[in-house]
Amino acid sequence: MERKISSKPVDTTKLSPMMRQYWSVKEKYLDQLLFFRLGDFYELFFDDALIASRELELTLTGKECGLEERAPMCGIPYHSSESYIAKLVKKGYKVAICEQVEDPATAKGLVKREIIRVVTPGTVLETNMLDAGANNYLCFVYREPGKDHFAVVFSDVSTGEVYASQIESDWKKRVLNELGRFSPAEVLLNESAGECALIQNFLNDRLHIRPEILPDSFFTWDVCYRTVAAQFPDCDIRQMSREGQNVIIYALGAMIEYLTQTQKHGLESLQHLELYSDDQYMTLDLTARRNLELTRTLRSGEKKGTLLWVLDKTKTPMGKRLIHSVIEKPLLNPTAINKRLNAVGELLSDSIRLDQIRGILQDIFDLERLITRIVYGSASPREMRSLQFTVQNLPQLKEAVGEVKSVYLRQLIANMDPLEDICGLISCAIDDDPPALLKDGGVIRKGYSKELDSLREIVHNTKGVLASVEAKEREKTGIKNLKIGFNNVFGYYIEVTKSFLSQVPAEYIRKQTLTGSERYITQELKELEQTILGARDKILVLEAQLFDEVRSQVAEQSFRVQSTANAIAWLDLYASFAQVAFENNYCRPDVDLSGRIHIQDGRHPVVEQMLKDTLFVANDLLLDKAENQIAVITGPNMAGKSTYMRQAALIVLMAQIGSYVPARAAQIGVVDGIYTRVGASDDLASGQSTFMVEMSEVAQILKSATENSLLILDEIGRGTSTFDGMSIARAVIEHIANRKKLGAKTLFATHYHELTELEQSFFNIKNYNIAVKKNGDEIYFLRRIVRGGTDDSYGIDVSRLAGIPEEIIQRAQQILKQLESGNMPSVKAKKQKQPEPMVLVQQDDSELVRRLKEIDIEKITPVQALVLLSELKARI
Ligand code: ATP
Repeated sequence: MERKISSKPVDTTKLSPMMRQYWSVKEKYLDQLLFFRLGDFYELFFDDALIASRELELTLTGKECGLEERAPMCGIPYHSSESYIAKLVKKGYKVAICEQVEDPATAKGLVKREIIRVVTPGTVLETNMLDAGANNYLCFVYREPGKDHFAVVFSDVSTGEVYASQIESDWKKRVLNELGRFSPAEVLLNESAGECALIQNFLNDRLHIRPEILPDSFFTWDVCYRTVAAQFPDCDIRQMSREGQNVIIYALGAMIEYLTQTQKHGLESLQHLELYSDDQYMTLDLTARRNLELTRTLRSGEKKGTLLWVLDKTKTPMGKRLIHSVIEKPLLNPTAINKRLNAVGELLSDSIRLDQIRGILQDIFDLERLITRIVYGSASPREMRSLQFTVQNLPQLKEAVGEVKSVYLRQLIANMDPLEDICGLISCAIDDDPPALLKDGGVIRKGYSKELDSLREIVHNTKGVLASVEAKEREKTGIKNLKIGFNNVFGYYIEVTKSFLSQVPAEYIRKQTLTGSERYITQELKELEQTILGARDKILVLEAQLFDEVRSQVAEQSFRVQSTANAIAWLDLYASFAQVAFENNYCRPDVDLSGRIHIQDGRHPVVEQMLKDTLFVANDLLLDKAENQIAVITGPNMAGKSTYMRQAALIVLMAQIGSYVPARAAQIGVVDGIYTRVGASDDLASGQSTFMVEMSEVAQILKSATENSLLILDEIGRGTSTFDGMSIARAVIEHIANRKKLGAKTLFATHYHELTELEQSFFNIKNYNIAVKKNGDEIYFLRRIVRGGTDDSYGIDVSRLAGIPEEIIQRAQQILKQLESGNMPSVKAKKQKQPEPMVLVQQDDSELVRRLKEIDIEKITPVQALVLLSELKARI
């Protein structure tokens, strides 16, 4: 969670000049931790130092600053600053980096310092601060003042992607759904959006983000309009404005402005603007995303055990990020879905080609993030080399894909630019094995620059260079014993013995007379001396300059690199879907608008992978808009009801992202949304009880779902008394079953066996149960879904399996029997060591006895027993 940093006011008039410079910067960055460059360290002062020393466990020292007390201070070496900044940003701080912007050696007076960047959770670029497999979004939510018109913008500066959408109706659901879909790292709101408690609470409680509210001064129309037009020249902003998309222009403009203020430069890498409408994607609220464990598990938040874990066999970081975002965005249009399925199918049809493609993808680095770092000027020599390694694989990759029929594969092959010029430039400019840091030298390849080569020659071969000058001078003058030497007083000199003095040329300048010889210098020798002595420094400066030139030339091609990276990501995604389909024996779903979901021998994609000792039992499913609209599923605890229902939702979702599915055959009529109410989870943080959370979720589902949605409702009404719960559950089903009210396809699992009666009254409700077999005390789960209801929960048997002590199990069985026979076990009965059977009636109460005899204790449910009991009591 982001934290604000309060800084003490300081009487700056008394400060030393350096500390005054510090404060002149700090007062503009009061909400950030200021990293102030002093020599080889970044120093933090005052409150910043107190916070950083605590958070980073650094030693706190002090610095004389002109005030009575020394300023608290702590520092970190600049070359290892990335890891410290990463820790602070992870904890929610923003870090402002203030650099020396002139050479301290030549500066007169105080070295000039400026903020070069502000690092925030949504703007990090450093590889060690980013998850290679997930995008890192900065989000902007803009609300038009006084109206319910919103724009949401998500940008990932590390990859150059920007997504923007305008929302003019039903904002409460849609804005939150978009926030859930993109799961941003940092959120900015304008003041009007900041006034929406719903958004603020969602961000705080569900995404654990404290948003920053930007002042209205960020949003002048002219500035926003001009900024957007300049940033996205390909985007027809006038047209956008004519189409009433002004809200997006405000949001995009302010976002670019915020990035300019924090990043200072490099924004040219933000080129990929996609204006999207959320109605092209399936509605999935945050609850459904989390319950279905799409990208992280509910319990531990890990990837293992999620749908992403099963489907992600991508080889490149771009592919990994894409598959992550594709899972969050199932499509609604069967044509687009089928085009994806065609691409997957074509790759799947040729396993040798698939292997070849995946083998090449293996060697591809993170092109998207590399090119961004190149544009920002922060890419290291090794990263440049990684770019070249990647690029040199492109022709081979295109060749491996070869001739294809699928429209999407053809498109991506067309978009894959071989980038031969970039490959050529880097390979002739950068050494094969460059150092990690530019300052270590040896970055530029031999032969790239004549000037650099001769400087290197001088450094490596000073003796040889001097010998050749010596030879040249001997030849020129005819002085056979002419020698070049060096002393500390006047550097390199030419020594000539007295016998040859008459041959000394006029341009020789005499410097010293010795007994038998004279020493001279020449203009050429002086220049050579300067070259030799300054060569090392010059090499570093020249290498940096050449490296920068190469980096800028590559940066100019960033658009081409980004489109190629995007094409590679899609190829990787299709190849991954094909590989998973092959390994896990999936089938191609028939995706259409039939409204029918018919899965034959369907399996749960994740559970089947997790099972080690047993085989997964496949099951069929049929839901449609006619008599199979609602399936009421009963069955013992642990039988597999939840697994079956989630499996249905996941298969539908997989089909709608363009993946093959774990089934023998599947017809998937697209659904516009999947809604889930699964399990009981307390939301204590937001002050809501389990039952309250359950009911709010049900309320939200009933409000949002349509007749084209798929509802997964697991044990509704469990969190309250039996009668209340059962009544609510029944009323909810009746509401859904009523076509005029909702009519959504629904899987409804319940332990209220009474609900199976609904099948009699509603033509569109069907009962199913998951079969078990009982043999004595043993219970066998068959995991097979069969038609019809069941009236036993086997809860006590499952408790025994779970390890509840036998004594308690036996007592539970006694209580159950009493309940089933119409008796309420008394507290007294519990106190008895061995409870006596209670005698309720005399043998001669013939009517009561007859009624009791009629009861089949094995079949009566607790609720029926209660009803009967009150009926009998009324008779006495
Ligand atoms: P409860 O009513 O107690 O919530 P449940 O009926 O919802 O139980 P699940 O949680 O779906 O039961 O399943 C319990 C376990 O059974 C799963 O974790 C899984 O290991 C196994 N299981 C479920 N379905 C199958 C299947 N079709 N094939 C093999 N194992 C299965």
